[in-house]
Amino acid sequence: MEILPFFTEYLGPRILGGIQFESTRYAMGTLVTFFVLWIVLHRFIETRKIRKPTPRAKQIQMELKHSFKTVCVFVAMDIFIFEAADLGIFQKYDDFADYGMLWFWVSIPLLIILHDAYFYWTHRAMHTAKLYKRTHMQHHRSHNPTPFTAYNFAAAEAVIEYMYVPIALMLIPTHNLALYIVLSIMIFKNALAHSGYEVFPRTWARLPVLGWLTTVTHHDMHHERGTGNFGFYFTWWDRWMGTEHPNYLQRLDEQEARAKAIKAARRAAKKRPQMVPAE
Ligand SMILES: [Zn+2]
Ligand SMILES: [Zn+2]
Repeated sequence: MEILPFFTEYLGPRILGGIQFESTRYAMGTLVTFFVLWIVLHRFIETRKIRKPTPRAKQIQMELKHSFKTVCVFVAMDIFIFEAADLGIFQKYDDFADYGMLWFWVSIPLLIILHDAYFYWTHRAMHTAKLYKRTHMQHHRSHNPTPFTAYNFAAAEAVIEYMYVPIALMLIPTHNLALYIVLSIMIFKNALAHSGYEVFPRTWARLPVLGWLTTVTHHDMHHERGTGNFGFYFTWWDRWMGTEHPNYLQRLDEQEARAKAIKAARRAAKKRPQMVPAE
C-alpha cells in the first residue's frame, strides 16, 4: 500500500469529513445555547437560573479542553463508521421509497426512545465504583454545569456515548435525514440539560404526558448531588427504577414560587410612587 495516495485519497477526506461534521454539530448545540441563554437572554431569564453562583471562567476552560478531546475521539470513530458503512453492516439508506414515509417518521422517536434507554443504563454503569474514575468522573468535575459540560468527557466515556450510533444503525433501518435529525436533537438536548437555566415550563413536570420529559433541573440535580436522575430525555427509567430524586418535583415548585415572588416584588416596586426631591 502506498502511503501518500492512501492518505490523500482515502484517510484525508474521511478525517476532514469527520472534523467538519463533528465540529459543526458541537458548535450548533453548545455555542448556540451558550450565546442565546448566557449572553443574549440572561437578563430576561434571571429568575430561571437554577443555581448560583454562575460557574467561573476556569471551569469553562477545563470543559472546552475536554470537549476538544471528545470531538477528536468522535472524529476518529467517524472514520470507522465510514469504513463500516462501506462494508454494508449498517441499515442506513438514502431513498425514502426503501421503507416509506411512515417508517421515516416512526424511526425518529424510536431512535430517541432507544437512546434514552442506552443512556440510562450506560450512565448507571459508569456510576459504579469499578467504572466511575476511568469513565464518568471527568464529566462530574462540572459540579454546576454550563452548556460546555455537554462534551466534558474522559476519552472512555466519549467512546461509550458514541457507541449508541453504530449499534442503532446495525439494528434499525435509518434514513440519512432521520439520523441527522436525531443527532441534532441529541446535541441540543445535551447542551440545554447543562445550561443552568430552566428553559421548560416548570408546571410541565406535574402534567400527565409532558411530565415524561426531563426538565433542565432534572439533570442539574444529577450534577449537584452526583447521583440519581440518570435519564436523558425522559423520566421513565428513573421512575421505574426508583432513581428519581424524591424532591425533584418539589424543587421545581420551589423555583416557580421563588420566580413568582421576585416578579411580584419588582411589579410592586414599579408601582410605588417615586420620591420627589424637595427644591
Ligand atoms: Zn453522572
Ligand atoms: Zn451531565
